[in-house]
Amino acid sequence: MPILSKLPNVGTTIFTVMSKLASDCGAINLSQGFPGFECDPELLDLVNKYMKAGFNQYAPMSGIPVLRERIADKTKLVYDVDLNSENEVTVVSGATEALYAAVTAVVRRGDEVILFDPAYDSYAPAIALNGGIPVYVPLEMPDFSVDWEKVKSAISDTTRLIMVNTPHNPSGYVWTQEDLDTLADLIQDTDILVVSDEVYEHITFDGRKHLSLVTHPTLRDRTFVCGSFGKTFHVTGWKIGYCLAPPQLTAEFRKVHQFLTFSTATPLQYALADYLAEPSRYLTLPDYYQQKRDLFCEGLKESPFKFTPAQGSFFQMVSYAHLSKESDYDLSVRLTKEIGVASIPISVFFSNKKDHKILRFCFAKKDSELYVALDKLKEIKL
Ligand code: PMP
Ligand code: GLN
Repeated sequence: MPILSKLPNVGTTIFTVMSKLASDCGAINLSQGFPGFECDPELLDLVNKYMKAGFNQYAPMSGIPVLRERIADKTKLVYDVDLNSENEVTVVSGATEALYAAVTAVVRRGDEVILFDPAYDSYAPAIALNGGIPVYVPLEMPDFSVDWEKVKSAISDTTRLIMVNTPHNPSGYVWTQEDLDTLADLIQDTDILVVSDEVYEHITFDGRKHLSLVTHPTLRDRTFVCGSFGKTFHVTGWKIGYCLAPPQLTAEFRKVHQFLTFSTATPLQYALADYLAEPSRYLTLPDYYQQKRDLFCEGLKESPFKFTPAQGSFFQMVSYAHLSKESDYDLSVRLTKEIGVASIPISVFFSNKKDHKILRFCFAKKDSELYVALDKLKEIKL
């Protein structure tokens, strides 16, 4: 029976493709974004403890109260914002779920959704499955900052939502206070809502502070902030995160969440609640990753690539436009096969798949692995 696909243009994601190729070739996998080291053994002990103690049945739909409180405590400590953990914090099965549930809660058929281009790969399908119409605003090369005049022109009477991602994947661009203020000015007299993907909230460099949209009085009232413990505690395979939103939006968000996943793994929630009690576990993350970014960038200086050190996230982009006309996809496949280092061609993040001759490397790896990768990258022929 022929099936009329709801996502006719979607194939297997580049992250799956490149991770498989890396594995098939025995290459160092700097493609898909996941840490190449273990999380804190104390966190594993806590999960084990709660599993053995019988915390293995459904958690409450919105998340266990103590974890929601700890997330609110973290928001107070880091952003100096008071949240009511009862009706402004929801625990979800990863930021991907939060993004999908938020879009589904508010986007109706025919609604326009403004996306920055390039964007993380899950946004456009979430919009399409809800009958929304993506409206792309190109980010400005080379730093991938926002041209607010372009955003202004993209806003129409049918704009329902704007999707923000800071720190940005793949570029690492971190929004400034001016970015937040300008967005607020543009939408304050409209009914436009915002989804803010902040999964790299604790990974910023050179003293730069992540400015969560929850910190902005105007934006806070209309934004779903999506976070992920996978990124913060090196456990991407656990798929657990959270959504912060004002009570009215949280109520709508939970209506979707309860029929999407209903609830999120119980022992993980208890373990993370205990683990979050010690703030140094997330406050030390910028320094931890800055050392890796610096190590990686120092080594890259001896490679043929051009780059500007990432402002945030655990990705480093590099350009080879000055050296070769090879497509970024072909180059990333060739480097995986020939020198044994896998990366992501960033054309996949663009709506029109335009090739800017830029690759993305994930530096969330053991230093020893980064050194081996760098030795190989120094040798490449372009
Ligand atoms: N947003 C961005 C920008 C990401 O890079 C990722 C990838 N991890 C996600 C969302 C998904 O997060 P999670 O694994 O918690 O679903
Ligand atoms: N966020 C990860 C990345 O950008 C990938 C997650 C996934 O594979 N879906 O590499």
